[in-house]
Amino acid sequence: MSHLGRHPEVVLYTVLAWMLWLVPVFDRLHVESGAVVASVAFFTSGLGMLRRKCDGARLQFVYPLVAAAWLTVSMLWAPNCDYLRGAVLFATFVFPSVALGVAMAVFVHVRAGGRRWILVASGLLIMVIGPVYDLGFHPQFYTYNHVFGGVLGPIYDDELVIRPGVFLFRLFTFVWAGLLVGLALGRWRLVGATALLLAVGYSQAGPLGINTPQTYLEEQFSERTSGDGYELFFYSAQVTDSLARDMRDEMDWHMHRLDSLLGVRPSGRVRVYAWPSADERARRTGARYTSVAPVWLGVPQIHVVADQFSRFASHELVHVFSREFGLPVIRASTMAGLVEGLAVALESPNGGAPADHLVAAAAGQEADFSRGVERALTPAGFWTGRGAVSYTTTGSFVAWLGRTYGVERLKQVYARADFERVYGKDVGDLVNEWQLYLAQIPVLARTAGPEARRSFSRLSLFEQQCPHYVPPRVRALRLALQADSHEALQAVVAEWPDYVSARLALAGALADVLSDTLTADGAARREAAAAVQAILHPIPRERRNALWYELAARAAQAMESERAASLVQESIWRTRVDYRRERTRRGLLLDATGGSVPSGLASEINAYKKWAQSRMFYASGDIEAARGRAREARFLYVEMGDVAMVPVLDEWIQRTTWRLTADIR
Ligand SMILES: [Zn+2]
Repeated sequence: MSHLGRHPEVVLYTVLAWMLWLVPVFDRLHVESGAVVASVAFFTSGLGMLRRKCDGARLQFVYPLVAAAWLTVSMLWAPNCDYLRGAVLFATFVFPSVALGVAMAVFVHVRAGGRRWILVASGLLIMVIGPVYDLGFHPQFYTYNHVFGGVLGPIYDDELVIRPGVFLFRLFTFVWAGLLVGLALGRWRLVGATALLLAVGYSQAGPLGINTPQTYLEEQFSERTSGDGYELFFYSAQVTDSLARDMRDEMDWHMHRLDSLLGVRPSGRVRVYAWPSADERARRTGARYTSVAPVWLGVPQIHVVADQFSRFASHELVHVFSREFGLPVIRASTMAGLVEGLAVALESPNGGAPADHLVAAAAGQEADFSRGVERALTPAGFWTGRGAVSYTTTGSFVAWLGRTYGVERLKQVYARADFERVYGKDVGDLVNEWQLYLAQIPVLARTAGPEARRSFSRLSLFEQQCPHYVPPRVRALRLALQADSHEALQAVVAEWPDYVSARLALAGALADVLSDTLTADGAARREAAAAVQAILHPIPRERRNALWYELAARAAQAMESERAASLVQESIWRTRVDYRRERTRRGLLLDATGGSVPSGLASEINAYKKWAQSRMFYASGDIEAARGRAREARFLYVEMGDVAMVPVLDEWIQRTTWRLTADIR
């Protein structure tokens, strides 16, 4: 007992760790618990030092190990598959903060009469000023901190973005500690050296990766072109001329479309950053898989990966437009659910089941599903809930609000979410009305049920068994695919023979060679086909999917086997109905292998072909022909009852019409 009396820190770190046990994600040794323990460690070590008149600095570095031990014990019920990396990050967060706390205490003891409030106030100030400076004034989604260590990136990136900058930044924390000690003890050489290091370091913040100034970020792009109301940045090495043209066309259209939908225009030129890859975006901004529009920054901007441009640009641009009617300063809404709900409501349809249909389908399976929108609208509910559920329910609700009560009221309610004032009724009543509407949708998209089940069951970070953990084989496969090399894929298959995705990727790469060598002699083709079969064969029957059957069919076709047609049939039977391109490709393969194409699939292929032709005409500049084909495609989709594709064609036809009149202008 007397031991603990002399070391209250042991009790404190124990209680802290036990409290963390109760919070999902924070209950194990990793960055999140590291950030909490680091904050506590700064104040604990500083105040502990002051209490003991600056004696026992070394012990302050030992006490946090108590928390680390308890957070290791929790592995018994909260598995931590990423323990090693978690421990390294935990140490990176905690020990520099202890050093700074100790140094601050020495400084306050010698130079400020040991006044505790100075230590506490400066710690709190650093915790606030750091994130405000980084996130409030820089195009970045991470922040490193001398007290709490840092936040590495957005919550939706389940794979952590670990940039070298975080380690360098924590070294800087030690340098700051050195400077404080130097100042306290009058060691002027130490002061000079540390001050110089800090000056050089902060002047090179961008290249060193400790934060991301806008000008530094823009220097990374080799190419820059401007259009009406926007400026587009991209890497010329990764972006072909036609992709660059597509991106500009996409921007022109969406700027016009949102302008006419919302009746506002962004107050400054929109900076559009088209990143060459998710990894490159992660390196510079901290966001890997999350496309983000930091609406609060002075310069309106979006960050999208170039080859996903058409999928995400319209969504991110809605955020940029919504700055105009958002709150002052942060330019967003007090309700996180309205921010994303508006973007989902106004983004371009993509051919998947519409948000209304997904929610209606889920409500049919689970009685009170749609009531969840009230929780999803609140910031806490939105960010801790399952991403797909939050986005889709709020998207459907906001779209319904806009259609029913008009866009003007939507813009009015957006900033402060005062539904009573704008609509004359509270959210609960509006949600009731919306539920009535959902219950009356006459025909749901064919895929709504399974799609809702699939996407709504994806767990949030707070529900995952092993948050942040990406298995090594997944990482290896991703690298091999990026390297685009057969040898690398072969190596992954050799190391993890049971990894189905790797086998399918390798077989796919070899099957592409197969179609390249169609003109080559039969022996070479048969050899390649045999290789594909050898890779596919070990995959057990119950894990064979549509792609497996397609690849097997292509190999069989090269061997002139009669089984080819039945394999393609199996493949089509297993292909999701909203995978229209795959179904078309497999339908054509069925035809080529001599199988008989059922009439339903034939009209589906026909519609898809017309849609593809329309886009080809559009790209070649024959807009008139593009519009004609699009109308034919739309007609076929209506006939088939494909309610998910009709809105896609509707927008496309609008776009061709606009392009025709714009060209005349
Ligand atoms: Zn968004």
